[in-house]
Amino acid sequence: MWRVVWVVLLLVLIGVPVAVYQRWLDIPARWNPWAPLNVQESPNLLTAFKLMRLQQDRELCAEALASSNLTYVSLPDSAQTADCPLENTIRVQGSDMRFTSYLTTCKMAVAFALFERHGLQPAAREVFGQPVTRIEHFGSFACRNIGNSQRRSQHASANALDIAGFQLRDGQRITLARDWQGEGDKALFLRKVHEAACRQFNVTLGPAYNAAHRDHFHVDMGLFHLCR
Ligand SMILES: [Zn+2]
Repeated sequence: MWRVVWVVLLLVLIGVPVAVYQRWLDIPARWNPWAPLNVQESPNLLTAFKLMRLQQDRELCAEALASSNLTYVSLPDSAQTADCPLENTIRVQGSDMRFTSYLTTCKMAVAFALFERHGLQPAAREVFGQPVTRIEHFGSFACRNIGNSQRRSQHASANALDIAGFQLRDGQRITLARDWQGEGDKALFLRKVHEAACRQFNVTLGPAYNAAHRDHFHVDMGLFHLCR
């Protein structure tokens, strides 16, 4: 009896993914791990897997970007001999928000678009009843190591962004440096943004982490998972 149960279970465990992959079984794209990532749809259990595949698969990443509100230009790869070689990178120029353009990996740009749509803007509407129209940052690409270590920073592969502040539609400005401390709406908003960043990016480090991050959120799409 148990043997039959195991065989059936095994067939389902192997059969369903194969059937989805082969498109014998039609399931909604958001529940299909091999379907392109659609930035407009709320992230779910499969989003991390879909994001993970993007950096190696340019076509898939371009499709994900096309579903976002980002404006950008694709950049050629740098020579492998470069000190900090760049692969599958773009220059992001804008979204529903204005910001100084920045160079970043395709995967990181898609994560940013998801964060904006499903984390940042909902937080702004909830706390202030209006959207963020501008984001301030300290940049993405910097060919350097982490702090005083020998390890390369995610900034060295343009796989990170340092977010410093926001501007709302009515002109109000919110910065990490000035508004992280305290009890008001701005502090509340920044806490919600931190939470949302932790859900979207692999690593999120803010003022609570250390003094080096007192004025920005460092977010990246490296291999580690950390939310501080
Ligand atoms: Zn950083």
